[in-house]
Amino acid sequence: MIPLACHEFDGSHRGLRHTLGEMTTVCGKCGALHFLEERAASSSCANPQFTLCYAQGKVTLPPLAPPPEPFRRLLTGKETNAKDFRQHIRSYNSALAFTSVGANLDTSVAQPSNYTYRLCNELYHRMGSLLPQPGKARKFAQLYIGDPHAKLDGRMGNFGGLNRDTMQSLQTMLHACNPYAIIYQTATERLQGGVIELSLRLVNDRRTNLQCYNAPIVDEVGALMVGGDVDEVDARNIVVRSTNGYFQRISPLHSAYTPLHYVLLFPDGRNKWHDSIPLNGFQWDGSMFIQDDENTIGGKRGSARVTMLQFYAYMLQHRVNQEWILRAGRLLQQFIVDAYACTEQNHLKFIHENQRQLHCDLYNGLQDALNAGDILGNDVGQKMILPSSFQGGERAMGQLY
Ligand SMILES: [Zn+2]
Repeated sequence: MIPLACHEFDGSHRGLRHTLGEMTTVCGKCGALHFLEERAASSSCANPQFTLCYAQGKVTLPPLAPPPEPFRRLLTGKETNAKDFRQHIRSYNSALAFTSVGANLDTSVAQPSNYTYRLCNELYHRMGSLLPQPGKARKFAQLYIGDPHAKLDGRMGNFGGLNRDTMQSLQTMLHACNPYAIIYQTATERLQGGVIELSLRLVNDRRTNLQCYNAPIVDEVGALMVGGDVDEVDARNIVVRSTNGYFQRISPLHSAYTPLHYVLLFPDGRNKWHDSIPLNGFQWDGSMFIQDDENTIGGKRGSARVTMLQFYAYMLQHRVNQEWILRAGRLLQQFIVDAYACTEQNHLKFIHENQRQLHCDLYNGLQDALNAGDILGNDVGQKMILPSSFQGGERAMGQLY
């Protein structure tokens, strides 16, 4: 029988309520809550199986650690300041973030009544030097340098309408638990001690054991060096200098990409994606993946690593006692858009770098004949072939309909 929701609307169903029931069915593998109707088609109501939440058994991540105080209380409290915090949670996060978000927005579709966010090109995160240019106000990471009052004044000055006490308590919380804030505090002490030129290197922290519940220690995420010249700069690391006046883009593949901006969602630097999280049945020994046994399933094209998509699909499930991240309201919405854009950009980058293989597979189908640009060759710019596995692309749509 065709589900009610798939019928064409003709008015005769008016008054009939379509419901999926309650989201109370627990995935036996990862603990995520689901609607029963979300189960895999091959499984029964008595023994429902789910696939998306843990990538068909390939992914297991450690539980989300509870958020530190006072952030937990602000997320859940009924007091006026907690409600006000949740209303302005994106502004609080931006005031405390190390990086800024940049994007080319297409505003042609966004209307006051239509909450559409359309990006052109890429969404990116940028980070400035340790100190601002002479005469310029401190922003983002630069607000982690200096004495606590100056930092607070700077944050309150950059973002109007926020509660000073709330901001102060969050600032104190991050200085106690956030490894990047602690490094910046050390930089403050060095600069006050007379050092003029400092360099900060944020390493791509790829923990060998993600099941480890301890937050990363400062040495694992970065190091300060006296002097402006950093030898043997690894392109995979982020290097910040005292004053060079320009903003650098942070690679979405760097493990610090999300915690440097979403400081409230990743207050202690744990639970972030990096490119060496092994799928079930694999281990990462610090330089390569090792297969536990020959029956291990693995991912696409023999991959042993958890992809960004698998990571966020697992992380953003509703699990009992770990649902605090889902309470982050508008900040969560922003994070999901960012995670989606990152995943998509990463996927497109892979396609772009593997055009040679894709060309062989794709220039022989009927669907390609439908692509007028291919036949007439009148496209401007460099053509990129999107395979049918790219959701939303012409070939994927052609296959579906
Ligand atoms: Zn699951």
